[in-house]
Amino acid sequence: MIICQTIAEVKSHISNYRMEQGQQAKVGFVPTMGFLHEGHASLLRRSKQECGLTVLSIFVNPLQFGPNEDFDRYPRDEERDLQVARQEGADVVFMPSVREMYPVPAKTRVLVSGVTERLCGASRPGHFDGVGTVVSKLFHIVGPDRAYFGLKDAQQVAVITTMVRDLNMPVEIVPCETVREQDGLALSSRNVYLSPEQRMQAVVLSQALALAGQLAAKSTLGADELQRRLSEYITAEAPIAVIDYVEVLSYPDLEQLQPGEPLGSVGGSWIVALAVKFGTTRLIDNRLFWAKEVSSHV
Ligand code: AMP
Repeated sequence: MIICQTIAEVKSHISNYRMEQGQQAKVGFVPTMGFLHEGHASLLRRSKQECGLTVLSIFVNPLQFGPNEDFDRYPRDEERDLQVARQEGADVVFMPSVREMYPVPAKTRVLVSGVTERLCGASRPGHFDGVGTVVSKLFHIVGPDRAYFGLKDAQQVAVITTMVRDLNMPVEIVPCETVREQDGLALSSRNVYLSPEQRMQAVVLSQALALAGQLAAKSTLGADELQRRLSEYITAEAPIAVIDYVEVLSYPDLEQLQPGEPLGSVGGSWIVALAVKFGTTRLIDNRLFWAKEVSSHV
């Protein structure tokens, strides 16, 4: 496994690989902020299955953190990350410093409109401009054929897919299923912040999503009613939880559904997205529904 700290090194390894393999070359890319867990590992495994060279990046991107967010205390463990990367067979690990990625304050931002207006885009102003900008930079540096993203961050998948489409970036975005703990909690680097009591109550997110599945099967229920029922459920089941948002929107456009329109008759896919705070730790989770999935429950 090759570990690169500089853009020049990573570019040179990838271009050597492309030169050796010619037309056959397939570069898979997994961008992360490190503190790797099974969710990240699942993306690496998918890339290994589908591509000849798997590139992992580990970079905690200051641009996507707000001034009062956890950039400084975001969990980091370089040694363990490299161990996981090695175990999963990553070929190249790119771990640049902030100075390497932003040698001068960047004057350019990649700003995706529409899909960034709601959910985390509304709760974390500027977050997706930071994500779009760094992912665009990483795509230019790595030049992958395929890039793997977790649907745990479904809005991020929507933002990146839109950016790639709108800017004709020659990369295929591969959305991957959310990996969960046994009790349903979605894996996240931020789960380490949770106290034992918070950890116990955090299961309410996945339980609310399971409830959403049951309620959605009642085809007469509208988005507004589903939101209300889920909020009530979270408040009742997890008294220490503070809801940031509970939203039911179209996916991937992330637009409001007609209030009162029965979910059973929504034409395309839609999402139930949750953000809940436990103390200072903000957890997100979501479930995607396809029209077919709902009607098959009816
Ligand atoms: P992060 O390091 O949190 O920026 O995440 C890097 C990538 O891993 C993103 O594409 C995330 O969506 C993905 N990811 C994070 N948690 C999970 C999970 N529990 N299951 C699947 N993918 C995940």
